[in-house]
Amino acid sequence: MSGSGVFTLTASDGAARTGILRTAHGEVQTPAFVPVGTKGTVKAVHPDELRALGAEVVLCNSYHLHFRPGEELVAGLGGLHAFMGWDGPIVTDSGGFQVFSLRDTLLEADDDGVTFRSVYDGRAERFTPELAARVQELLGSDIAMCLDICPPAGVSRPGLEEAVRRTTLWAGRQRDLPRAPGQLRFAVTQGGLDPELRRRSSEELAALDFDGYAIGGLSVGEEREPMFEATSEAACLLPDDKPRHFLGIGDPEGVLEVIARGVDTFDCVLPTRTARTGSALTREGRLNLRNARFARDERPLDEDCACPACSRFSRAYIRHLVNQQEILGLRLLSLHNLRFLLDVVAGARQAIERGDLKAWTAETLERAKGAGS
Ligand SMILES: [Zn+2]
Repeated sequence: MSGSGVFTLTASDGAARTGILRTAHGEVQTPAFVPVGTKGTVKAVHPDELRALGAEVVLCNSYHLHFRPGEELVAGLGGLHAFMGWDGPIVTDSGGFQVFSLRDTLLEADDDGVTFRSVYDGRAERFTPELAARVQELLGSDIAMCLDICPPAGVSRPGLEEAVRRTTLWAGRQRDLPRAPGQLRFAVTQGGLDPELRRRSSEELAALDFDGYAIGGLSVGEEREPMFEATSEAACLLPDDKPRHFLGIGDPEGVLEVIARGVDTFDCVLPTRTARTGSALTREGRLNLRNARFARDERPLDEDCACPACSRFSRAYIRHLVNQQEILGLRLLSLHNLRFLLDVVAGARQAIERGDLKAWTAETLERAKGAGS
């Protein structure tokens, strides 16, 4: 056992590791999947249900909460934990990903900040590192992310280099700004798929000694294999005794890849978004419940799952709900998909403890290649 107080490493297997992340609102066993509650709610899921599924931490979006309902309002009502009825750890992102990924709303970026059109009313708005820190201080999250520059996949090298330079500059400005009580601050590394720029970003940010680090600027539409290689490079350049978060990965294969490369926590809308399209993640691959082959299928979504959907309802019934656009259908699929992914990650955690991650992952992925669709 070793650690910084914030994070204790408990076991490792190759680059993969298990640990305990300590926050002002409780501990998180890592590796951990962090469900996304964009607007202060994991869509269609009650916080008690989320807890019962095994989730220990959620991630909310500063961009959306800043515009609706506004961080001042949330702070006036006791902060985000009280506002959304979740007393466990909350991660907030900085809003940078939304600003830079909605390319057609981006107006201008300079060393001071970034100007863009709000997706809510089209008005010109400006984010600075100082504002991103202030928003997250008022929301009162447990882990606040630094505002960074997330360029799109395929950006030119000068563009990528500029993003790295500005991300470090902004991280330096945010490091010592006021924070909520007990709030941890993570820097976000950039550098795309360029090994030299990845190294530069990780080293510059590691030197600033943050509570933890996020790996950003990946999973933005590039090829998967180079993306996982970049993850390995980024992870091994970060301090061993600090937690590492991967921004935006949530498919079972991707999650297992980043865990194997030394990532501790990761967030994604995939399980709930997939649910709302009528699909289930299962040990036998992804099932599209709209498919006619499920019309008389009496089996649960996944034979080995103990979620509220699988413990009571058939594929045939859930298919009927999905086809009739009944709210219960997407609720059940959301609960199942979250539970499924949380179970996959719990399985990986146990495999790391046994020193068996590689074989366990191969077996799990082999099985998922089965049925599908
Ligand atoms: Zn289930």
